[in-house]
Amino acid sequence: MRICRYNEDKFGLIKGDQLIDVTIALDDIPQQRWPRPHGDAMIADLESIRVGIEQNRKMGYVQGVNNVVLKSPVANPSKIIAAPANYAKHVAEAQDDAGINFGREIKTIDDYGLFLKANSALAGPGEGITLGHTDRRNDHEIELAMVIGRTAKNVAYDDALDIVAGYAIGLDITVRGVEDRSLRKSLDSYAVLGPWMTTADEIDDPDDLDFRLTVNGEVRQDSNTKNLIFDCRKLIEYASRFYTLYPGDILMTGTPEGVGPIEPGDRVVCQMDVIGKMELDVR
Ligand code: MN
Repeated sequence: MRICRYNEDKFGLIKGDQLIDVTIALDDIPQQRWPRPHGDAMIADLESIRVGIEQNRKMGYVQGVNNVVLKSPVANPSKIIAAPANYAKHVAEAQDDAGINFGREIKTIDDYGLFLKANSALAGPGEGITLGHTDRRNDHEIELAMVIGRTAKNVAYDDALDIVAGYAIGLDITVRGVEDRSLRKSLDSYAVLGPWMTTADEIDDPDDLDFRLTVNGEVRQDSNTKNLIFDCRKLIEYASRFYTLYPGDILMTGTPEGVGPIEPGDRVVCQMDVIGKMELDVR
């Protein structure tokens, strides 16, 4: 199942290039008073919403998916976790490029651990990327993003994929420089998630997905998640030893080689096995 958020908080089911309005299925989400629990209520309630989607997909308004503004499929993550330096060839290019390393030694994920991007950076492809600090280098980083499905702590490696609700394409947009990652990677719209969430039952092996990113038609990044240094299970195991994970938490798994600058006016197209194609504009 592919589910999306679009236009003004509408909820949709994707079938091929068609989008079916299943917003009514969100009526199954229990009303919550302050203080609301951590996490995204749609993801937390996904199994009952799934029943509602099946019941309503025959009556919802149908339109082409290209006719809507796609938002991030997760609205309210408690956090956006991201992995630095998680592909060997990206580590190598970062070591070789002063425009990435700024004179610092590039270490590996064993040294860096993970980092957080601000939730306010989250955007959908229909909103595009609005660059800040355009006097500096702003890079694209395409990554497989996992959406956590339930509250979990100290998850064992072998059980890790059981807590994943779904997968999406992530863009970890980055201002290059010397400041902490959490600052440089957290400008508004610098965490793109989309084009929708493909539920976990449709992806047998998240550690074997081909993906690529083009800018204005030029292939910049082209890899497979089998090249991850910390694979998907290990990332969840590792993250959950530090953070309690909540429904809707997003875990961006790291980017392969080929990162490079984007400029206002650029058109970015991402493609990932099973998930599909995500297109967005840079402003
Ligand atoms: Mn990244």
